[in-house]
Amino acid sequence: MTNEEECELGDMTPEEFREFGYRAIDWVADYLKDTERWPVLARTGPGETKSQIPSVPPLESESMGDILDDFERIILPGITHWNHPAFFAYFSITGSAPGILGELLCSALNVNSMLWKTSPAATELEEVSLDWLRQMLGLSEEFWGIIYDTASTSTLHALAAAREVVPGLNAREDGLCGSNVPRLRLYASEEAHSSVEKAAIAVGIGRRGVKRISVDEQFRMNVEALESAVEKDQRKGWHPFCVVATVGTTSTTSVDPVKEIAKICSKHGLWLHVDAAYAGAAALLPEKKWVLEGCDLADSVVTNPHKWLFTPIDLSAFYCRRPDVLRKAFSLTPEYLKTESGDGATNYMDYGVALGRRFRALKLWMVIRFFGQRGLQKRVRQHMSWAKEFAAWIDDSPRFERMAPTPFSTICFRAVPPDMDDEHLDRFNEKLLQAVNETGEVFLSHTRLHERFTLRLAIGNLKTRRDHLERAKELLVKEIEELSG
Ligand SMILES: *Cc1c(COP(=O)(O)O)cnc(C)c1O
Repeated sequence: MTNEEECELGDMTPEEFREFGYRAIDWVADYLKDTERWPVLARTGPGETKSQIPSVPPLESESMGDILDDFERIILPGITHWNHPAFFAYFSITGSAPGILGELLCSALNVNSMLWKTSPAATELEEVSLDWLRQMLGLSEEFWGIIYDTASTSTLHALAAAREVVPGLNAREDGLCGSNVPRLRLYASEEAHSSVEKAAIAVGIGRRGVKRISVDEQFRMNVEALESAVEKDQRKGWHPFCVVATVGTTSTTSVDPVKEIAKICSKHGLWLHVDAAYAGAAALLPEKKWVLEGCDLADSVVTNPHKWLFTPIDLSAFYCRRPDVLRKAFSLTPEYLKTESGDGATNYMDYGVALGRRFRALKLWMVIRFFGQRGLQKRVRQHMSWAKEFAAWIDDSPRFERMAPTPFSTICFRAVPPDMDDEHLDRFNEKLLQAVNETGEVFLSHTRLHERFTLRLAIGNLKTRRDHLERAKELLVKEIEELSG
């Protein structure tokens, strides 16, 4: 083989990389400057993107210029712009420039932080940045942290750890099949996220092993109902082992009474996992520290910096007071990965299902440093104060009613034109949501509360300004008028 042929087998040349790298960064800078150029919600129909892409892979090399052109021409129209400042659906999330640069450097390094040795700085930065975040949220220093991809994965690991400490059950070695232990039962409120049930499916508890506990009028877990369910199950031969409390439920952002739940857990020997995927970020603020009250009594807590802390998806922070249990549940080291023990170094692969691990801590570290604690606090506080204003506007208008309290930055409401029964109101609000979203200027989502179709507006984007909320109000009013004829 000639030298030239050998060169052809390598990567893009450094000169080309520089050229296209600059082009990509320029594109990103323009995109972030003016995301409002695009309709927030993608307008492509099913299959429309796919139909523009060859169904067989290219045999020969294609030019990076063409590939980037196609990114703009084919891919972009099928993108729903989570970066749009009027993206108010689900939990509105944004990345941020420091987070994007962190992702770029992370993929450039392409390290795998499975062991300390396979990239010492990646492991140590994960330890430090999670400890920073722990301090920022005011969680006890007894909590040890690990980064997983999503809250769903974090909760899966919480349930596996909870299962590991059930006396008389050796799930790690024996599995659950054919074992003689009573059926395990876990408790979560009716408003808890579906990821709890999925985790139960994955760790062998099954959906029937999940007992949904009723909520009060403000959608918080009913503590008396929890305790009586636990006691009733014990009498009936179930083995209660875990409670998942939610701080910031997905529908209404309600906060379960964690402190009271913790008392019941301690009395009955249950693992307490707290799902604070979205609302945990509020605990950055001194005036909102209460939201994690009682969490120091929990065995594990999850919060997602990729939700309301300006970190590009994915990054879920999982805190556990009993990392030894997590390690016991998952460590399984093949010979070729054994390292000298006794150096005190953390090998994160021992604490979860995944062997390979991205260097996610890099972006979190960059986000925290770039904004600083104060900068993060100001932004989260701003979102909550706008939500308060929006909620007040809803409350003051006879056209609307609020469907749930607004403790954070998410408002649940519906339109209430006069003389309409609930069934018609449901249909009216469905149409209203559709009409408002079709403008392409804003994107809201919905939920069902007390069986009623409810609109949801969540504020969490770094680029949202007050005029975006004003525009949302205008559009709501205008569409109500049009629908009412
Ligand atoms: C968003 C959310 C989840 C799921 O988070 P993923 O990271 O997407 O798995 C779980 N619980 C709550 C309360 C959430 O808000």
